[in-house]
Amino acid sequence: MPQLLKSLPKATRIQTLAIGSIVVAVAVMAIKYVAYMKTGSVALYSDALESIVNVITAIAALTAIRVGIRPPDAEHPFGHHKAEYLSAVLEGALIIIAAIMILREAYDAFLNPRTLTEPALGLAINGFATALNAGWALLLIRSGRAWGSMALAADGKHILTDVVTSVGVFVGLVLAALTGWSILDPLLACAVAVNILWTGYKLAIESMSGLLDERASTEIEARIHRAIANNGAGALEAHDIRTRHAGRMTFIEFHLVVPGDMTVAAAHEICDRLEDAIEADLVDADVVIHVEPDEKAKPDAAIALNNEDGQTGT
Ligand code: ZN
Ligand code: ZN
Repeated sequence: MPQLLKSLPKATRIQTLAIGSIVVAVAVMAIKYVAYMKTGSVALYSDALESIVNVITAIAALTAIRVGIRPPDAEHPFGHHKAEYLSAVLEGALIIIAAIMILREAYDAFLNPRTLTEPALGLAINGFATALNAGWALLLIRSGRAWGSMALAADGKHILTDVVTSVGVFVGLVLAALTGWSILDPLLACAVAVNILWTGYKLAIESMSGLLDERASTEIEARIHRAIANNGAGALEAHDIRTRHAGRMTFIEFHLVVPGDMTVAAAHEICDRLEDAIEADLVDADVVIHVEPDEKAKPDAAIALNNEDGQTGT
């Protein structure tokens, strides 16, 4: 499928996958709810409710893509990439509601332990939904890697962690059905509720860091440094590199030191080459470069540039 989608333009491809994520998340949630109805298991109820988080996340992702894709306009000259942090607020609220609903149901099951009705059928249905989720997660990760979209791969990895929880619930319930320990059911549900709250906490931290212009990850910064070092021939050094990210975008700015007698046209040519190299490597990046003459050099804090003959400039 990544190959099949490859023929579409990038924005269409990513939107297609985002819509697919919503469809898969709703289907998984519905199937898991059927499994809960068949068994009366609180743990399966919690597993179904956990999918709500994925439905919301998938809708938020599509909104972020559709709004975030809008080009900068007069009122928003840096673009609309932070749109997704707004939906994160809604996600946080829903995550807390889902966790409270699960804990209430689990408390009920602690007080009145129930034996599961039709555990084999319920678990088979739940297992099918989990397999569907796993397949979709792998598709997202593969497409993300094939298209160089780290955000897409991250979405896939998030769904994969849910698959791990679901497998844990599945194994626990098989154990409960075999041993007759009905207490395992609400215990597993509580574990899922805690896991949902933990996911929500991480989402909230991530969104707040984004709103506060957190720097790009060490991995992305290393790639930027490498692109600068390999494409800055003709310039002397780069320093004061600052990065921040907004949604899927990374904004990068730095100072480029060139010989003081270099023409503006020549310096500009180097800047264009650096901008193209970084934007080609990171895909979702925006680069601004401030040019300085050699007396502004900061040798101690600079990235040395590889010159064309492979020598490192000063
Ligand atoms: Zn400077
Ligand atoms: Zn220019």
